[in-house]
Amino acid sequence: MTEKKRYRVVYDRNNCIGIGSCALLQPERWVMIRNGNDNRADLIGGIAQKDGILVAEFTEEEFVQFKSAAESCPVNVIHIIDLQTNEKII
Ligand code: SF4
Repeated sequence: MTEKKRYRVVYDRNNCIGIGSCALLQPERWVMIRNGNDNRADLIGGIAQKDGILVAEFTEEEFVQFKSAAESCPVNVIHIIDLQTNEKII
């Protein structure tokens, strides 16, 4: 059996402007938090790092959806790393 490809999503939550296209395209992983001034997306299953960065690892089954969400973000705060090569895909 071949190993599934693994990726990491890195989300800079502090710089999210709350447009919501990520949550529209991938509602399994992004949810909008409408809470006064904190009008941002949360990454479901994300692990908080310092400076408002959230990270999560995922496999190839979710790749297309995560890539679409990342490409839709107008402020480029969603990034994807290929964990096989350490290449930044977006
Ligand atoms: S698409 Fe980008 S700016 Fe819009 S809610 Fe998602 S992370 Fe925030």
